[in-house]
Amino acid sequence: MIKSNLLEVHENMKKACEKAGRSEQDVELIAVSKTKPVSALMEAYESGCRIFGENKVQELVDKYEVMPKDIKWHMIGHLQRNKVKYIVDKAALIHSVDSLKLAEEISKEAVKKQVQVSILIEVNVAGEDTKFGVKPEDAEMLIRKIAALPGISIKGLMTIAPYVDDPEENRQYFGQLKQLLVDINQKNIDNVSMNVLSMGMTGDYTVAIEEGATFIRVGTGIFGERKYPVK
Ligand SMILES: *Cc1c(COP(=O)(O)O)cnc(C)c1O
Repeated sequence: MIKSNLLEVHENMKKACEKAGRSEQDVELIAVSKTKPVSALMEAYESGCRIFGENKVQELVDKYEVMPKDIKWHMIGHLQRNKVKYIVDKAALIHSVDSLKLAEEISKEAVKKQVQVSILIEVNVAGEDTKFGVKPEDAEMLIRKIAALPGISIKGLMTIAPYVDDPEENRQYFGQLKQLLVDINQKNIDNVSMNVLSMGMTGDYTVAIEEGATFIRVGTGIFGERKYPVK
């Protein structure tokens, strides 16, 4: 099942790239494996996945320990400052930085462990109350401040679009994130040259690719529905 799902996702990615006149190499798939058992992740690994996305620190670390070492782990969920120390040397990319305080903590731990940590700035493009992320108009100032910190490098922007039935409704938000990246790059801020756009999930990744996504984050479309324990 996972194998055929992956084939389908890659086929859709290819079509979206063709439609947008983009090279397939410019879009990478993150297999969002949160809540899924290692056996399922291994199936995806055997089918070629080398980038996995998790939204909880403990789960990322647990899976990191037991899975093959050529995997790149992406932290895509909200990150608490007190948990930063557990993942700075394990996450290839942290997608969810939305405050200076969090960035300062990442910088501090990066310097301590002598690593360079790659991050994205999470932007709440649609302005939903329930979502984390900096407001688009505050992104530039936050980036200017973070760019001055040691041990941390800003690779681009990330957004979580609203949950919608028609993915076309999210096209505007993906377009706005891309434009924000272009605008901020044009300011020539020291240490800032962003080329990563993390946007698009199972319901809307083809639209996100058409609008310039370089990472898409797909969970359900690869692993099937997630079952959360009833609380
Ligand atoms: C869970 C999650 C995804 C994947 O969602 P699907 O709809 O299952 O593809 C993508 N991004 C983030 C930040 C997530 O938490």
